[in-house]
Amino acid sequence: MHTPLCRHATGQPREYAAHAVSLGLTEIGFSDHSPMPQDDFDDWRMRRDQLDAYVESVQAARRDFPQLTIRLALEVDYLPGQEDWIRDLAARHPWDYFIGSVHYVSGGWDIDNPKKLSEWRQRDAYAVWAEYFDWLTQAARSGLFEIIGHADLPKKFGYVPDRDCTSLFRTFLEAAAGSGCAIELNTAGLRKDCREIYPSRRILEMARERGVPITFGSDAHAPAEVGMDFAAALDLARAAGYTKCCRFEQRQRRIVPL
Ligand code: ZN
Ligand code: FE
Repeated sequence: MHTPLCRHATGQPREYAAHAVSLGLTEIGFSDHSPMPQDDFDDWRMRRDQLDAYVESVQAARRDFPQLTIRLALEVDYLPGQEDWIRDLAARHPWDYFIGSVHYVSGGWDIDNPKKLSEWRQRDAYAVWAEYFDWLTQAARSGLFEIIGHADLPKKFGYVPDRDCTSLFRTFLEAAAGSGCAIELNTAGLRKDCREIYPSRRILEMARERGVPITFGSDAHAPAEVGMDFAAALDLARAAGYTKCCRFEQRQRRIVPL
């Protein structure tokens, strides 16, 4: 879940926590968009000098809601070559987990940015998906992340290749299984043009066959989105054959029954 520091979310962490308590959730996690080495990289993340304030705002929510377990995390952009920066971030605070996400492909294009939709019309969809999954595979192999975020993000606006993507999915999931990296069921996809949880049932079934663990996320960018469509996510997980999911504390995984 996010905070206003990323410049495209609303509500303070304590408001997200209040909504979670009203839903009967017992554990939530904040994973706002991590800073980049250069603050002018883009305009949809916190700046470097806001990281401490971010951590403080999550800790304030913990103090306000002692009955709720609140995890401190980051959604970290994976770009090849940024491994040292990500290790630097990891050393700064007592994180519970890092979600590794790919939003950027080559050419500095963030494929989920609605302001850059025209780029999709100029590129071959399969080539974009192939590059995206190549970078996602590198993220899974890197050992830098507990969870890989919204694994089939390129479907967001409906640009799905005609060509079979099975081998892209397989290579990624084998990397995740090999490094013990989980994937998330992210319900934000239901709120986008694709109208589908990330990842698809097909990918999730392939993940289950390979023993890739799962987590659940609303990717809330507003308090009212906390826990949104979790019943559908649970149904999807069960339909794909999952009976367990995982939680993280201090970057250690614990498996719990669904
Ligand atoms: Zn966001
Ligand atoms: Fe994301």
